[in-house]
Amino acid sequence: VLHVRDVRKRFGGHAALDGVSLDVHEGEVVTVIGPSGSGKSTLVRCVHQLESIDGGAMYLDGELLGYERHRGHLRPLPDRKVAAQRSRMGMVFQQFNLFGHWSVLRNVVEAQVAVHGRDPGQARAEALRLLERVGLAGKADAHPRMLSGGQQQRVAIARALATNPRIMLFDEPTSALDPELVDEVLSVVRDLARGGMTMIIVTHEMSFAREVADRCVFMEDGRVAATGTPKEIFDAPSSPRLRSFLSRFT
Ligand code: ATP
Ligand code: MG
Repeated sequence: VLHVRDVRKRFGGHAALDGVSLDVHEGEVVTVIGPSGSGKSTLVRCVHQLESIDGGAMYLDGELLGYERHRGHLRPLPDRKVAAQRSRMGMVFQQFNLFGHWSVLRNVVEAQVAVHGRDPGQARAEALRLLERVGLAGKADAHPRMLSGGQQQRVAIARALATNPRIMLFDEPTSALDPELVDEVLSVVRDLARGGMTMIIVTHEMSFAREVADRCVFMEDGRVAATGTPKEIFDAPSSPRLRSFLSRFT
């Protein structure tokens, strides 16, 4: 589904991504762990084209992201084509980024109307179905500020799902939540994994990163420092730095 090839991203003099490659296959769940500042957010933000890249290439279903060939050269895609590519991915942020002045239902409806031009009745039916799926069928008419953080994040997940994304990108979906609200969000993500959704999940929840993953990626200093099955990463960490990172969580 997604191919990331030797992607580089600099902020000023600092290489936030220093040649990252990653493949995510259909139905695969890849969790990304690593110390603060290692480039995890930058990676998913680049995939979602919230940041431009300075080198390398990314492909979604074989289609180059962000650029097109023109007379033998690559040129940046126009905004509306970037938006179309972005709509094939669902992104969930640490801060839920819901529109506070819209109802829960409208938050989930609007993405579909804007992106797919779906008719409002159909979008509404789909939104209600998704809200039910994240356990919020009764909250359609509420405003985000009336909801708990865990509920807001579940709305954000429903909204991200509403465009039928090919891949879901999560950037620490539970780290802004009170501890008692973490599980309700993780269980929604877990259900998506069981349902065969293709996902990249950046998380500091190590037991979750292990349990939900088909593959786990350990990032350090803007590089993929280790990748493997959860068993390989957590039970037999190859590098000393991965071992020392993991030891902080036990
Ligand atoms: P955390 O676990 O704290 O979320 P992270 O692994 O997500 O960390 P990133 O946010 O990707 O790390 O940051 C990677 C590096 O890039 C850091 O050194 C950070 O300071 C830098 N960086 C990220 N975004 C920007 C930005 N918009 N401007 C300047 N530097 C940035
Ligand atoms: Mg981050």
